[in-house]
Amino acid sequence: MSQAPIIGLTGGIGSGKSAAAKLFSGFGISVVDADQASREVVKKGEPALLSISDYFGEEILNKDGSLDRAKLRVLVFKDEKKRKWLQSLMYPITNSWIIDSIEKSDSSYTILMNPLLIESRQYKWCRRIVVVDVSVETQIDRTMRRDDNTRDQVESIIAAQVNRAKRLEYADDIINNDQSPNDLAEKVAQLHRNYLKL
Ligand code: ADP
Repeated sequence: MSQAPIIGLTGGIGSGKSAAAKLFSGFGISVVDADQASREVVKKGEPALLSISDYFGEEILNKDGSLDRAKLRVLVFKDEKKRKWLQSLMYPITNSWIIDSIEKSDSSYTILMNPLLIESRQYKWCRRIVVVDVSVETQIDRTMRRDDNTRDQVESIIAAQVNRAKRLEYADDIINNDQSPNDLAEKVAQLHRNYLKL
């Protein structure tokens, strides 16, 4: 692992993790994105994609040979055995992608952004954990706007994530993001100053 401290950045869907990460990145801080990891490791030509198509059949691929992620999500959502299989395939591969990326980071600290930082236990790698927190109403409202989803869809995603209170128990720092984007920028700038002193 890189010597520089790892700061875990998490929060529920639509809380403003990506917005916060962009601000950290604006200060020259490397951001390692766990969602990106899970997309990269199943790109065409990657060994994990071969394993997935062996297990689920060629129907799991789009015409161009890439992974049909939406179909895969539906299949594993309704079948626990398949979900477990997929998790145990993906877990070590995404972890090593993330570790490689952290090692390549050359900023004074590294942000590890993962909506599942707690569930994946990656929080254990982190010097500090910062949780972006918003009221559930704000969370639903912003996600519906961003993803053009219905309230029901957003509520079911929120229900599947670790709950707000539990996530906050892990927080060393909390960014309340119920206010304006400027307010978020000020809070990130303050944390950035603190993290430089670590
Ligand atoms: P996450 O990455 O946690 O899912 P995003 O950073 O994508 O969340 O934020 C969700 C949506 O809310 C985005 O459309 C983003 O532009 C918007 N947003 C984030 N922070 C604010 C804020 N303080 N005020 C208004 N809109 C915001």
